[in-house]
Amino acid sequence: MQLIERAFHHEREQLRQCGLKITTQRLIILKELMNHADHPTVHMIHEAVKKELPAVSVDTVYRTLLSFSEAGLCTVLDGMGEARRFDPKRTVHHHFICNNCGKIVDFACTEFDNLQLPSVFKKGFTVENKSVRLSGLCPDCNK
Ligand SMILES: [Zn+2]
Ligand SMILES: [Zn+2]
Repeated sequence: MQLIERAFHHEREQLRQCGLKITTQRLIILKELMNHADHPTVHMIHEAVKKELPAVSVDTVYRTLLSFSEAGLCTVLDGMGEARRFDPKRTVHHHFICNNCGKIVDFACTEFDNLQLPSVFKKGFTVENKSVRLSGLCPDCNK
């Protein structure tokens, strides 16, 4: 346990800040999520944690990732191909998704950050997320 406590210092801190109970399973799943900058699917995270958590099911990993997203530790990207994707990056950013290989690229853009809302949303709506999603072909698929 001592070893785990030291190895997962950052993850422990994040779980604590979000008020989530600290378990070895959560620590390992969170660490793998943070290690994946490529907007992983639940299957990618499951593959990665299987070495350390051989008994853990895809469903458990999925429910854990959803609890992270409810706690604000990651966001869930829907409508980007068949599987849901999980995004550990918590600063404001935008996405490009490749329609051919499914790669998702993060990008920053202050103009997009500051997009003005169409007037129809100014009354009666609460906009909680403003991010731009581009799609097309990535350079590899464009060759
Ligand atoms: Zn591509
Ligand atoms: Zn992202």
